[in-house]
Amino acid sequence: MNPRSLNFLTQNYQGPAYVYDTEILKARAAELKSHLPQFQIHYAVKANFHPQLLNILKQQGLKVDTVSAGEINRALESGFLPEDVIYSGVGKTVREIDRALDLDIYQLNIESPSELKRVQERAAAKNKVAAIAFRINPDVDIKTHPYIATGLSENKFGIAQADLPALYEEVKRSPNVSLKGLTMHLGSQMTDLGGFKEGLQKLRRLFLEAQSFFPSLDRFDIGGGIGIFYEDEDLSREKTLIANYGEAIKQELKGMNAHYQTEPGRWIAARVGGLMAQVQYIKHNGVKKFAILDSGMNHLMRPTLYSAFHRVLPLKIRPGNKEKYDIVGPICESSDFFAKNREMTPLEEGDFVWIADSGAYGSVMASAYNLHPFPQEIFL
Ligand SMILES: *Cc1c(COP(=O)(O)O)cnc(C)c1O
Repeated sequence: MNPRSLNFLTQNYQGPAYVYDTEILKARAAELKSHLPQFQIHYAVKANFHPQLLNILKQQGLKVDTVSAGEINRALESGFLPEDVIYSGVGKTVREIDRALDLDIYQLNIESPSELKRVQERAAAKNKVAAIAFRINPDVDIKTHPYIATGLSENKFGIAQADLPALYEEVKRSPNVSLKGLTMHLGSQMTDLGGFKEGLQKLRRLFLEAQSFFPSLDRFDIGGGIGIFYEDEDLSREKTLIANYGEAIKQELKGMNAHYQTEPGRWIAARVGGLMAQVQYIKHNGVKKFAILDSGMNHLMRPTLYSAFHRVLPLKIRPGNKEKYDIVGPICESSDFFAKNREMTPLEEGDFVWIADSGAYGSVMASAYNLHPFPQEIFL
């Protein structure tokens, strides 16, 4: 989205706002579909759970991947049906499992032997047969930030391969669970496909093995995780990456027959919107020049949490030499920043800036810290 087209929003400015573009959302969903023609896309609700965004994705023919009963409820309120819902996550409580069973959701992803036991018990108590998939931890490295890697043995996610044979026996003994497929999710913001290809090969091998125990098992779920290039305004690298992603999947799954599923979040939502904020103060302390905004880590955590990069663009470009700014927020923490030593055209107090590509993992992580109001969310 071109922030220069957003100046009209500054006229009646009511505080920091995430602004989303409906057309970009539809275009992202359509583009992803075009690269994964055989796949059912389950959008990862945690990336952005705004009801309007979810509703549009439902209309685009997507389904959902959720990680809590709260997200399941939000998806249902936004137009999705229980049969659209995959439920992942390592810490499902009894109440959450009960909710999923009562709804007869499409697929409950099992992440540990203890969780399988809990789901069996709850399904038995309700006289239900839970449709489950095993989330495998394939122990591969996708070279992302350690906080968003999920497919390594050291991560809490998924079932270790060594545990699978015993779990298959367990499922065979249990009339209250039905193993429908295998799934993996290697982590987020993948821009290198080496680890992903290795993961696909492992999942394929395990899938064929599982089919020898369960001939009707057919769901092959590759998880989400495909990244975007936050530094680039130009989308050409991103288009190459998504094309290579589609091609790698096609190659690795050649000759296979399965019901294919994917769970992307960031790739669909990140480029859909940004965060608009206003410069309150320019502060020069002799060492650094700070642009202090009315929004910070309370509204967008990614720079603080992952040292993530977001482009910061002034809505109005002022003449004069570029200067280096730390773009910071009002929160009483030195970790409260959007950018450090960022070269920008001159900023003045009262100017508006756009924190680009924050449609995913932005508003959903906003907090009440310091009791500033939550950011607004606006759909264009
Ligand atoms: C977070 C998550 C996703 C989506 O990851 P992205 O990097 O946003 O594509 C998919 N599946 C599971 C299980 C997740 O936890």
